[in-house]
Amino acid sequence: MMSSSQVIVPPRLESQKSAGHIQVIFGPMFSGKTTELIRRLKRYQIANYKCLIIKYAKDDRYSKEGIATHDRNTLPAIPSEKLSDLKHEAEQYDVIGIDEGQFFPDVVSFSDQMADRGKIVIIAALDGTFQRKGFGDVLQLVPIAESVIKLSAVCMKCNNEGHFTRRKTQETSVEVIGGTDKYLAVCRACFQSPIKQSPNKTNSTPSMKPIPSDKANRKLFTVS
Ligand SMILES: [Zn+2]
Repeated sequence: MMSSSQVIVPPRLESQKSAGHIQVIFGPMFSGKTTELIRRLKRYQIANYKCLIIKYAKDDRYSKEGIATHDRNTLPAIPSEKLSDLKHEAEQYDVIGIDEGQFFPDVVSFSDQMADRGKIVIIAALDGTFQRKGFGDVLQLVPIAESVIKLSAVCMKCNNEGHFTRRKTQETSVEVIGGTDKYLAVCRACFQSPIKQSPNKTNSTPSMKPIPSDKANRKLFTVS
């Protein structure tokens, strides 16, 4: 029995601060990190959480209006090169998705601060460069995160699981924009093998199918 004088505090408000946490989605290129990020955000959005995606400003995958979801809601997508510029904006949301997290120099401090303020922060990021070195500061998310997963792609040379990103070209500039024209997802063995020869195939061309041009040039990679 409840007396009429009792104040019912909605559970979400009461537990808002303790609900804050960090989820990290790692993986090589072509492993579906952004798809997984959006899946998780939509899941929260359906439960009426206010969700935001922060995308890297030089990545043109999202329209300025954000991402339309099946229920005709929109996930707002804000482009930025620095996360701390969006602190004020992010305050208005319950769940903050960060795509291409490896490109943001302040991804660790921003994510930690937002989680401390009760936000659910979900970061999709490359864990390693095309040389399999840690990408920027992004690995420092691991000890401060509640959840970390590494997705795999399909190796584009032998069709086994692919856990690494390999650059096909000799380019050494700081940022190289490209999709399957410049990068491969590869397994351990194919990471080491000569780029032009596929071990399981008789032809010398990597077993790649062309992808639509709107997706072909959307990726960025930075030399560490
Ligand atoms: Zn392979």
